[in-house]
Amino acid sequence: MYLKTPFLTKEKAQEIIKEFPTPFHIYDEKGIRENAENVYKAFSWNKGFKEYFAVKANPNPFLINILREYGCGCDCSSKTELMLSKAIGATGEDIMFSSNDTPLEEFKYCNDLGGIINLDDITHIEAVEKACGRLPKKMSCRFNPGGIFQITNSIMDRPDDAKYGMTPDQLYEAFAIMKQKGVEEFGIHAFLCSNTVTNEYYGVLSKLLFQLAVDLKKALDIKISFINLSGGVGIPYTPDQKPNDILEIGENVRKVYEEIFTPAGMDDVAIYTEMGRFMMGPYGALVTTAINEKHIYKEYIGVDACAANLMRPAIYGSYHHITVLGKENAQKDHTYDVTGSLCENCDKFAINRRLPEINMGDIVYIHDTGAHGFSMGYNYNGKLRSAELLLCTDGSTKLIRRAETPKDYFSTFDCFDFHKDLISE
Ligand SMILES: *Cc1c(COP(=O)(O)O)cnc(C)c1O
Repeated sequence: MYLKTPFLTKEKAQEIIKEFPTPFHIYDEKGIRENAENVYKAFSWNKGFKEYFAVKANPNPFLINILREYGCGCDCSSKTELMLSKAIGATGEDIMFSSNDTPLEEFKYCNDLGGIINLDDITHIEAVEKACGRLPKKMSCRFNPGGIFQITNSIMDRPDDAKYGMTPDQLYEAFAIMKQKGVEEFGIHAFLCSNTVTNEYYGVLSKLLFQLAVDLKKALDIKISFINLSGGVGIPYTPDQKPNDILEIGENVRKVYEEIFTPAGMDDVAIYTEMGRFMMGPYGALVTTAINEKHIYKEYIGVDACAANLMRPAIYGSYHHITVLGKENAQKDHTYDVTGSLCENCDKFAINRRLPEINMGDIVYIHDTGAHGFSMGYNYNGKLRSAELLLCTDGSTKLIRRAETPKDYFSTFDCFDFHKDLISE
């Protein structure tokens, strides 16, 4: 078992709650910085290395700006994410546009910003031409090898069941067409499995993509500028999982690079990543208060957060570790379902979880919400999005997104004549 330690003490949480009531997501600046530094260290052997943070994982400009200090760019998947990147000054090759089912105008928007377009489908060559007038000089394609993706003997995922990317034949054809239409530099991208808690994933993926790059270069005489290993590097949500070691992961990729690219004379190829979860996941927590207890056929603890603040447990059955602050060392001698208040029975942060006795008013710390937490939030049942806070390196707390108010909820109904005074509170 690996210790899962909150980055907040009960005393610190109480102090913060006086100013910002629960629920809220809070992020640990120190953790984010140390991790970003390690990511760059792990790939420092590669001259062009760049991490494009997957904006969808956590689109908070304060947090993205911390990552930008280390050299990270933005991996965007929609126009609004592109706008966000532009608004924080990330343009040109600081943008990777890895979208799918893309509306035509979004290609143009990305191209106008100078971002790198990563094509999900062969038909999008024509779409980009139509949208942008001609193809950009540097472009990338997303690869889907089909079949089953395995690491040694364990099945990691099923690319043949995924909607993303191009088949090997399509990729060859696409690159040939793109070359003929004036593209001068090429990238290859693949995202074959999510949340891999193993140091092997990037190495195994690299083998596949580097060999493909060598073959494509030989067959089409094109310049491969970068390989984008995309996301998928996971985090240990459960205490029995061993955390990934990014330094070892970087080493594994380096070995494959030296084995495949160096002898092929391709040692100027840049390695890109598009990690979201690994960059932010462990450095966020959802802090909530126990407000109800209920004893029927099971024991329930109701908290003031719900799936609208963190939907992963409800839709994927995902495990998020829970610490009752101040009871870190207490016996876990109770079994609870920890629930939110949505009118959906899946609104449970934990089911049959062994925890210390929870009293009303206890602060419940839900771990690992830094990625795909707040960002997947929604307004079902009239729930409002919470605030986001940053626990700064100097120990102070900064509001980096205010909580929604009812006014925000009603704001898109400006076509309806509400009794304004009733919604102004
Ligand atoms: C979601 C996503 C990522 C980030 O994935 P993580 O598992 O969070 O690292 C990167 N690239 C693309 C295209 C994605 O859709």
